[in-house]
Amino acid sequence: MKDGVGPADAFGRRFPYLRLSVTDVCNFRCGYCLPDGYKPSGCDPFMSMDEITRVARAFAGLGVWKIRLTGGEPTVRPDFADIARAIAALPGIERLAFTTNGYRLPDRAREFFDAGLRAVNVSIDSLDPAKFRDITGHDRLGEALDGIDACLDAGFESVKINTVLLKGWNDTELDALIDFVADKDISLRFIELMRTRDNVDYFKTHHLSGTAVTEKLLSRGWRELPRVPGAGPAREFAHEDSRGTVGLIAPYAKDFCSTCNRLRVSAKGALHLCLFGEGGYDLRDLLQSDDRIEDLQDKIMASMNFKKSSHFLHDDNSGATPHLASIGG
Ligand code: SAM
Repeated sequence: MKDGVGPADAFGRRFPYLRLSVTDVCNFRCGYCLPDGYKPSGCDPFMSMDEITRVARAFAGLGVWKIRLTGGEPTVRPDFADIARAIAALPGIERLAFTTNGYRLPDRAREFFDAGLRAVNVSIDSLDPAKFRDITGHDRLGEALDGIDACLDAGFESVKINTVLLKGWNDTELDALIDFVADKDISLRFIELMRTRDNVDYFKTHHLSGTAVTEKLLSRGWRELPRVPGAGPAREFAHEDSRGTVGLIAPYAKDFCSTCNRLRVSAKGALHLCLFGEGGYDLRDLLQSDDRIEDLQDKIMASMNFKKSSHFLHDDNSGATPHLASIGG
């Protein structure tokens, strides 16, 4: 696991980590993301397994060693495990991860592990079944929790819970969420709600600053851990009485972007230099055959010059991103 590798940008940052979306489709209806459910946009199909594998091979050749499969809900793709298997076998890929709402995990965690996935983030915004249902549109907290147990049993090296901080929904649950990981080898990740083009009103009502978490953790005797290589912008905290750790991703915090270490490719094959940029760089024409890999790498490297120093979320700018499912959250 290492920093200092992968494509570089004009500000000296290196990008060893790719978040690779395999579909925009999601079966959940989270209020801050797809409150009315997934609606198709445009007529381009999502990348095929061969196209996805070529993207991964090109980035691996540029020094990327960590890839996260995401979406939408990545596990709705029938070929999800095949995609994982193909990417895990690529030279240079040391860590293959995915982010999921967990609904497929109780039955398929072992199959995903056997395909080469080693790290999983499961999204759980509330431990209260009724709130979970109201936030996501699905009464499936039990499946997500069973899915976490299935991942631990299968041998996943890293199991994390993603919890978006939501004023009015889970701000009263911070203690319960922190206590939930006390006896488990799990890292709980609090994520500040990000404003996107489509969630402006939801954001105004429910955004909760990450300082609520840091104040809570410090008052309970948690201490901040030193940043580990490849960790990106998350701050990690530990407590001697807790097996689990707690992380915070606070995109509105000062200097958040200075530790940015990730690039994104959307499910339709566009390179996004920032979650909140003004659109992507289309790679699709270079994904049609194995002999274009060098051209693809040249295009990726040329695009790196356009990566900006910051996401400018502070200026109320959320770029062209309608919701995170459209790029891969
Ligand atoms: N469907 C998968 C899942 O539920 O984890 C993967 C895709 S989802 C877009 C990835 C993560 O982004 C989830 O943890 C989700 O809660 C988070 N997310 C989505 N929209 C967000 C927003 N506006 N602000 C912060 N986090 C967001």
